[in-house]
Amino acid sequence: MKITVDGLTSIYHNNTPFEHTALNNFTTTFEPGKYYAVIGRTGSGKSTLIQHLNGLLLPTRGIVQVGDLTLKHRTKQRVIHQVKKHVGMVFQFPEHQLFDETILKDVMFGPLNMGLTEEEAEERAEKYLSLLGVPKRAFGRSPFDLSGGQMRKIAIAGILAMEPEVLIVDEPTAGLDPKSHIEVMQLFKQIQEDFNITIILVTHDMNDVFEYADEVKLLAGGELIREGRTEDILTDEKLLTDHHLEIPDIVRLVHDLERKGVVFERMPRNTEAF
Ligand code: ADP
Repeated sequence: MKITVDGLTSIYHNNTPFEHTALNNFTTTFEPGKYYAVIGRTGSGKSTLIQHLNGLLLPTRGIVQVGDLTLKHRTKQRVIHQVKKHVGMVFQFPEHQLFDETILKDVMFGPLNMGLTEEEAEERAEKYLSLLGVPKRAFGRSPFDLSGGQMRKIAIAGILAMEPEVLIVDEPTAGLDPKSHIEVMQLFKQIQEDFNITIILVTHDMNDVFEYADEVKLLAGGELIREGRTEDILTDEKLLTDHHLEIPDIVRLVHDLERKGVVFERMPRNTEAF
């Protein structure tokens, strides 16, 4: 499912003395099946942008086109509800939204809410819990008995079980230990590849962006500063330092060695040409 953002302006507290423009005439597209990273320093507009992609916020001006559904200033709840079925969102610390008495019931909640039958919801929950490596014998346990990393995975399974075509993940590894960090990041990559869904990752971790994202969108002051292939943007040290972003370890290492005179053979740029 393609998402097109066209001339999106987002103003908080519009027409009040507190009004604040968080996004200014923002235009971009998210193609189906790709893995995107949205980066930029704190306050650049990342969170505001992603909340427009699933109808949590509506544009002050401009439109967000999600497949054939249009989100604009006064879009009806009925349309927003449809958009939310296609575009899933994993918020920061999703485990805070766990509430049910068993792991299975918690993961079934989203699918049931979408109108699936009890049987269908259970099937979905089992499918995604297995994908996460949760053994069947654990399905009846309370999610609150689990470790932080495990709780986060259960919460993510609840979103996956709704089978969105686009999945937005906002700082999904915040506060996780290194092992859970890698597991969660690999999970998103796996579902992108296996189910051909679009991933939109918001993060400050440039190593993750370098490792997993196909394309990057760099925001500053509510505007799109650069977009393009990850390797083109994350190897531009000046661009990253100008925006107070860390340089990925591997890029820093290569550049340090190059400064010491080591010559690396670059991959040919245009690999499609005969
Ligand atoms: P980021 O996610 O990149 O940190 P945000 O989208 O949260 O950026 O914020 C963009 C701008 O909008 C910032 O200047 C921020 O202070 C402002 N902002 C965010 N949320 C609100 C809000 N609820 N009310 C007023 N201003 C807000």
